[in-house]
Amino acid sequence: MRQEASLLTHLECSACGARYDADTPQNLCAVDGKPLLARYDVRTLDGHAWRDRLAARPWSLWRYTELLPLRRPDEAASLGETVTPLTPLTRTGQRLGLASVTIKDEGLLPTGSFKARGAAVGVSRARELGIGHVALPTAGNAGGAWAAYAARAGLRATVVMPADAPAINVREAVVTGADVRLVRGLISDAGAIVARYIAHSREVAGGDNAASVPFDAATLKEPYRIEGKKTMGFELAEQSGWKLPDVILYPCGGGVGLIGMWKAFDELEAIGAIDARRPRLIAVQAAGCAPIVRAWQEGAAASDFWQGAETIASGIRVPKALGDFLVLRALRETGGCAIAIDDGEITAAVYAVARDDGLFLSPEGAATVAALPHLLEQGLIGRDERIVAFNTGAGLKYPDVVAPDAPVMDPGDDL
Ligand SMILES: *Cc1c(COP(=O)(O)O)cnc(C)c1O
Ligand SMILES: [Zn+2]
Repeated sequence: MRQEASLLTHLECSACGARYDADTPQNLCAVDGKPLLARYDVRTLDGHAWRDRLAARPWSLWRYTELLPLRRPDEAASLGETVTPLTPLTRTGQRLGLASVTIKDEGLLPTGSFKARGAAVGVSRARELGIGHVALPTAGNAGGAWAAYAARAGLRATVVMPADAPAINVREAVVTGADVRLVRGLISDAGAIVARYIAHSREVAGGDNAASVPFDAATLKEPYRIEGKKTMGFELAEQSGWKLPDVILYPCGGGVGLIGMWKAFDELEAIGAIDARRPRLIAVQAAGCAPIVRAWQEGAAASDFWQGAETIASGIRVPKALGDFLVLRALRETGGCAIAIDDGEITAAVYAVARDDGLFLSPEGAATVAALPHLLEQGLIGRDERIVAFNTGAGLKYPDVVAPDAPVMDPGDDL
């Protein structure tokens, strides 16, 4: 076995622990309908030696090969997934009285959002498993990312998103050749449409023929998107010299990035690459769609469907997440919390961070910065703590969040 082969062994239900074969296409647990998680033979990996070996590898998410699911990593569909930078918000931190606020800037990934991580790994693994057609509901960015990586891999893609998703998300999915449908509704409605489509295709095909029946690639309905997203946690650990920050703020929709990092930290600890300390994970939601925050405040183990979801932060407009119980468990086990921010404060934070520190954040990323003064006031973060906030997408994908307020001149006018 090559030293850098995947150590993937099997899939395991996140709720009941049932085991499934990892080398055939799988969706949810047949027993309870809960998400399956990839498991690796971590005992065979020496974390310290592994950390040293990483130095010689390409500066991309693919450097963590052993803890990624691809059997043939050389054939992965790649669009140039750089390790994203950690950019200090120096003036924002000074303004808020916080010693260390850093942005992990996911807007620099292909397709302009961290959804590229899930799509790169999810699409590559789907192709390895003989899947020829992926179908997914999306709030927007995942549709753009999966369409792009499907094009790269030579797979068909069907994408269903809300009709009021950002225009760029529709266009990027259309231009890369996906079959795109817009639903007058939310991502939850899109999910039901995709499920009906797949059930119908299966009936027509008379079974689960991987080549002709589209594969349901909805968030957490397939086990490999989260494996891509967890690389945010690997990168953060490596970039921080294997000493994790005190606090992580994450804009939480389906929560896969958050669950993914939590899983990544457990895997790093299992191989001895980090110790048992964990950052407090803080889920930031929009006040107009905050099912996880409500469940957190009620001390519930799972969330209820959020009626009338509405926010400019379209990536976190998810009224009910399949993995809500895992998000809530991650918050509890790390001593974190959940907090909701209204759209006015999100927009104000987009402007403030852009002016103070030059970064044009997505509204989702800006929500994490907007949460800081509230968390400080409530004693949930300390002034001297090392805080990392995730900007999950590029502000450039959301031009309508800011006004193009600039006076117009004729060529003969003077300033
Ligand atoms: C999808 C998305 C999120 C939410 O991600 P989850 O990991 O599913 O919670 C946050 N921000 C942006 C920009 C997104 O596209
Ligand atoms: Zn199960």
